[in-house]
Amino acid sequence: MNQPPVPPQGNGLEGLPCLYCGEAYEAGDISRHTEPIHCGPCITCVDKPACFSCRLMYCVCDVHRYRG
Ligand SMILES: [Zn+2]
Ligand SMILES: [Zn+2]
Ligand SMILES: [Zn+2]
Repeated sequence: MNQPPVPPQGNGLEGLPCLYCGEAYEAGDISRHTEPIHCGPCITCVDKPACFSCRLMYCVCDVHRYRG
C-alpha cells in the first residue's frame, strides 16, 4: 500500500489550494477557480478558469493575461 504524499487538511472543503493559481479558495470563490473559460485563440490558457495566469508573451486574453 502506497501512501500518497498529501498532508491531511481539515474537512477538505475550505482552504483547498487551487490547481491553477495555488491560492486557497473558499466556496464563494469556487467558480473563479474551477469554471473553464473558453477564451479563444491562445491554446495555452483556453478552458482554464479565470484565476489562471497565462504567462505566454503573446496571450491576448483579458482574463488570463499575466499581470506581473
Ligand atoms: Zn485559482
Ligand atoms: Zn485565455
Ligand atoms: Zn493565454
